[in-house]
Amino acid sequence: RRLDSRSGLSAGLLGEIQTPVSTEPMESVYEITGELGRGKFAVVKHCVEKATGKVFAAKFLRKRRRGRDCRAEIIHEMAVLEMARNNARVVNLHAAHETDHDIVLVLEYAAGGEIFDHCVSEELLPEAQITRLIWQTLEGVHHLHQSNLVHLDLKPQNILLTSLSPPGDIKIVDFGLARRLGAVGELREILGTPEYVAPEILNYEPITTATDLWSVGVIAYMLVTGESPFAGDNKQETFLNVSQVSVDYSREAFSRVSELAVDFIRKLLVKAPEDRPSAAECMCHPWLWPQQICLSPDSATIRIVRERSCGNKWPHREGKEN
Ligand code: ADP
Ligand code: MG
Repeated sequence: RRLDSRSGLSAGLLGEIQTPVSTEPMESVYEITGELGRGKFAVVKHCVEKATGKVFAAKFLRKRRRGRDCRAEIIHEMAVLEMARNNARVVNLHAAHETDHDIVLVLEYAAGGEIFDHCVSEELLPEAQITRLIWQTLEGVHHLHQSNLVHLDLKPQNILLTSLSPPGDIKIVDFGLARRLGAVGELREILGTPEYVAPEILNYEPITTATDLWSVGVIAYMLVTGESPFAGDNKQETFLNVSQVSVDYSREAFSRVSELAVDFIRKLLVKAPEDRPSAAECMCHPWLWPQQICLSPDSATIRIVRERSCGNKWPHREGKEN
């Protein structure tokens, strides 16, 4: 559930978009079929572009919410998607339409569903798959942060897969709460889902890129254990768990989890944002080393393909204590 602070929402929204918002009826351009997902103010539906036969996901966003005109928020979400257009880990915005009640974002379709399904399933993914998905998430987050964008709503429901089985590549969705940093001074807002947000959000402290890294820690935790680290029986309990960073790594849920995975999660789930590693630093963590090394099929030589993330610019922070 979202805890929007009414006062802060109007601040720092982007207002410039390039994608034309077409008033041509959706039904004349697309064949709209089943529902893919829904949130508080949005319904996402599977749709096929009649002219091309291409499949998309149409996100219907209500223009009026609780009696308020929310057009500016929707334009902002579009503007952020446009800023992230060259980020391969972010879902692509194909077109936009306007109906009486909604603005519809026609998005690249991610056919594999939410990684959330892999967090609650009887059968968790093997760690080799999890490190691949976390690596890709970090690539996406790193790219966003380089553009001074913070997502602020990273959670297993907002990380999708291009295919289900075998698990494809990740696509980050849902930029409704994303913000541009630095444009208008300090950003403080209370938003997101308590279970997944960092302590500084709950304490109304300044938001930085480190806020997203907390969420990556929560996502990694959920993928390896199948449990949500801070979920309490009620909202108060969840808030307390988050602000006290109450995690117990010795629990049964961790019995089959590697030490490197635990170390990775431990470094992200820390209260002080400035003590969390950046996305690029995370990519140098030994848990993700298999992702940095690529075995060339013909020569069988090991090539480091990710030098850019492990060069002098982002020195190893983890040291050799592991
Ligand atoms: P909300 O802001 O309401 O949370 P999201 O953008 O997160 O809206 O979309 C809600 C859900 O719809 C997602 O969690 C996902 O299950 C599904 N969904 C969203 N975008 C896509 C997409 N591009 N492809 C496939 N499913 C999607
Ligand atoms: Mg969402």
